[in-house]
Amino acid sequence: MKRTLLEALRERRLVCDGAMGTQLMARGLASGACGMTWNLDRPGDVGGIHQAYRNAGCDLITTNSFGGSRFALKLHGLENRVAELNRAAARVARAAAGDNGWVLGDVGPFGDFLEPVGDTTADELREAFRAQIAALLEGGADAILVETMSDPAEAIVGVEAAKACDPKIPVVVTYSFQKAGNDFRTMMGTSAAEAVQRSIAAGADIVGTNCGTDLSLDDYVQLAGQLVAAAGKTPVIVQPNAGSPHMENGKTIYKATPEEMAATAKRLLDAGVRIIGGCCGTAPHHLAAMSRAVKAG
Ligand SMILES: [Zn+2]
Repeated sequence: MKRTLLEALRERRLVCDGAMGTQLMARGLASGACGMTWNLDRPGDVGGIHQAYRNAGCDLITTNSFGGSRFALKLHGLENRVAELNRAAARVARAAAGDNGWVLGDVGPFGDFLEPVGDTTADELREAFRAQIAALLEGGADAILVETMSDPAEAIVGVEAAKACDPKIPVVVTYSFQKAGNDFRTMMGTSAAEAVQRSIAAGADIVGTNCGTDLSLDDYVQLAGQLVAAAGKTPVIVQPNAGSPHMENGKTIYKATPEEMAATAKRLLDAGVRIIGGCCGTAPHHLAAMSRAVKAG
């Protein structure tokens, strides 16, 4: 029988995949359109992206379901299709991951603020996340990834929702940070240490960071050190963007080369990170170079 994700992680470092949105757009998805319908309508395209990451050496494949909660799907009038779109996302990813890969069922931010800043209660959000996660698990997800978080309260609701579906399911929680002096803070002002420690206390099995605002590759290495120190025995995942963003013709461009990403991957591993992957601007060729660096070291 296949090792569970957490068992495998005790023995070796693992590689997660890179960006999905830009890959969908490269295959014709209009900017601002909902990519989740492609899980049903164009599964060959979504599966092809997953397969490219698997071929690049990625051990973990992330489902195409970032905006898959009822709240996020509502922006596209798709709030009644939570179950079918998330189930399809997990099925496509499961087929590409194969017997030796793991599928992370992706849960992104719901797109608003919890009470008292916003109107949504924790109970409403927990029910929305639970419905999304139940469908991801039904479709074959091996673990749940609650990502791009800025508010620990929202992340904790995500952990609770996943554990309510299946107490044994591994839950990964990652936050997005920006630089604040010599430190890092989420958009909500939460420090790396607080974000990590509150998530672990809520039951997260793996914690870390993805994406981020204006972070250089050096910043990710520094941030990784803080996350590892705060996480104690809990494994840390870091999924950086492909370097600092540049604006070109009104578009945000990430320019780090595969070689630069591979060198960063090595430094992240040296800092104690157990899973590396990529966020904005990363593509299969970056992940291939990073994967070689992980497997060499
Ligand atoms: Zn990103």
